[in-house]
Amino acid sequence: MTQHMKPLLPDRIDTLFINCHVATMADNALSIIEKAALTVTGKTISWIGKEKEIPDLLKTKDPKIIDCHNGWILPGFVECHTHLVWAGSRSNEFGMRLNGIIYEEISKKGGGIFSTVKATRNASKDELFTLASKRVNVLLKQGITILEIKSGYGLNLKTELKILEVIRLLDKNFPLHIEATFLGAHALPSEFANNPDGYIDLVTHTMLPKVKAQGIATAVDTFCEPIAFTLPQTKKVFEKAKDLGFNIKLHAEQLSNSYGAALASGFNALSCDHLEYLSLSGAKKMAQHNVTAVLLPGAFYFLKETKKPPVDTFRDLKIPMAVSTDLNPGSSPVHSMTLILNMACMLFDMTCEEALLGSTINGAKALGLEQSKGSIEVGKDVDLVVWDIDTPADLCYLAGLTPIDRVMITGRIHQTT
Ligand SMILES: [Zn+2]
Repeated sequence: MTQHMKPLLPDRIDTLFINCHVATMADNALSIIEKAALTVTGKTISWIGKEKEIPDLLKTKDPKIIDCHNGWILPGFVECHTHLVWAGSRSNEFGMRLNGIIYEEISKKGGGIFSTVKATRNASKDELFTLASKRVNVLLKQGITILEIKSGYGLNLKTELKILEVIRLLDKNFPLHIEATFLGAHALPSEFANNPDGYIDLVTHTMLPKVKAQGIATAVDTFCEPIAFTLPQTKKVFEKAKDLGFNIKLHAEQLSNSYGAALASGFNALSCDHLEYLSLSGAKKMAQHNVTAVLLPGAFYFLKETKKPPVDTFRDLKIPMAVSTDLNPGSSPVHSMTLILNMACMLFDMTCEEALLGSTINGAKALGLEQSKGSIEVGKDVDLVVWDIDTPADLCYLAGLTPIDRVMITGRIHQTT
């Protein structure tokens, strides 16, 4: 429902936000209401409009009143692509890179993704939970209220399940809504170095059924690139995942055009992510199957890539664009959504409106949650952030901004300052 429609008045109001401006993100635009008010009933937005138009009836319901002091309310950020459960440190590797040592050399010295895999395998569930909690706390303070986390640093059954269990614990212990994605086919573990098909068999026939049986992930992702897995291997994983009822996502066309986006679209994927090397035919397939393009400027920046994703094509074909941090220790150790918004504008030439839609409603689309989350509309879940800014564009312009006043998630207030 949009602000132009007259909603039915709620019988009960728990909270009334006043003295605010709202960017609702409804109707694929900022959809701004200045001098606004909105009401919350339980976990749901029950009324929104101009403050001077608050129906008298609502004023008699004696709600808790929150004065936003002329601040802006936006939907909580939807962070739809992270790998934030890991152990170990790659700081030394960053120093090596700055000294001109290339990734292959670092990898030979025991660094790279396999150092993360080793440390993650060796860490206990409690240790992983403590490490990941620090990162989730940072994201919460940045205004992220919905978060996706992938497994993928285990690369064996035991550790992949351990990571997914940690994600479930994070969901239980933090107010954020957290979605777990199984990314067993992230990289080829060294014990399968000469047998990639054997590893894909393990992912397909052993890991996927176990993950399904435990109910600890809703989506399955794969890394389809010459340095990871081939198109036929990716297809094998997706066929089984689809059979088991998982949603599909794909790391596609990041470093080369491997035709992964077209394959994933054929499986009605929720999203294809990265997409710097996406072809026009791949984009058309995505449009045909309503697949969201998740753009990850943090990885583009950190890897010093030069080929940009085809943003104009996404616009032409009306493919929804989401943006995300891709928070991970190797290619995007970025913990800030507002910094990512700035990068989306500066590096990928997105408009502020596109970047903000990308971190709210289109992020929700990338997770299949757009019916209940990602915008401020009557009947939707209450995931709100109150910002002390002059205009929504400030969130893109003032890179790294974190002056959040308070966050309201599923109807509960969480003070962040
Ligand atoms: Zn990723």
